[in-house]
Amino acid sequence: MRPQTLRSLQAPLRQLTLAKPAGPARHYSIFTRKTPGPASSKTLRAAPTLPFLGALFGSSSSSKDTTENMSYPDNRSDEQWRTVLNPEQFRILREKGTEPAGTGEYDKHYPSKGVYNCAGCDAPLYTADHKFKSGCGWPAYFDSIPGAVKRHVDNTFGMKRTEIVCNNCGGHLGHVFEGEGFPTPTDERHCVNSISLRFSEDADPKVKSKA
Ligand SMILES: [Zn+2]
Repeated sequence: MRPQTLRSLQAPLRQLTLAKPAGPARHYSIFTRKTPGPASSKTLRAAPTLPFLGALFGSSSSSKDTTENMSYPDNRSDEQWRTVLNPEQFRILREKGTEPAGTGEYDKHYPSKGVYNCAGCDAPLYTADHKFKSGCGWPAYFDSIPGAVKRHVDNTFGMKRTEIVCNNCGGHLGHVFEGEGFPTPTDERHCVNSISLRFSEDADPKVKSKA
């Protein structure tokens, strides 16, 4: 950590020191030293134990996530997502995981009407009319609600695939495959994790008219 970063922290930390009772305060007050010295490195090692500093000194992966999230209207941090998602939803939506094939709640779910919303932010993503039987083991849609789903090139696992995410919160949905020969209007298959979705039978009229 660079010394100037440390110095820039001194002002807020001094306020924290004042707010803290005598005991734990010494962990904070050490930051108010004017002269940088061997104490600085000790101080920094103590930092991750404090939630306030943990956020500022966040690991490279979480700061990358934050940058990525900022391009979406719903740009909650990982910490905020953890408070609203269960661990499996977090693993799939925020860490781009995949649920095991054939296990998802919506794999064999074919309602006559309704909307599949993002399980993270509740944005409407797919209608019941978009869903088709692909036999692949995950919910499959031949199209999405216009503008609801964003595509990214994904080169992980040595495959070139197109990742799809919720265009409102960046939550990972799955992948889209083209030209597989399905008899649908697009011959595209949005292969989506059930865990990334929450079905609602009450279709939003706005969604219905657009679909
Ligand atoms: Zn979302």
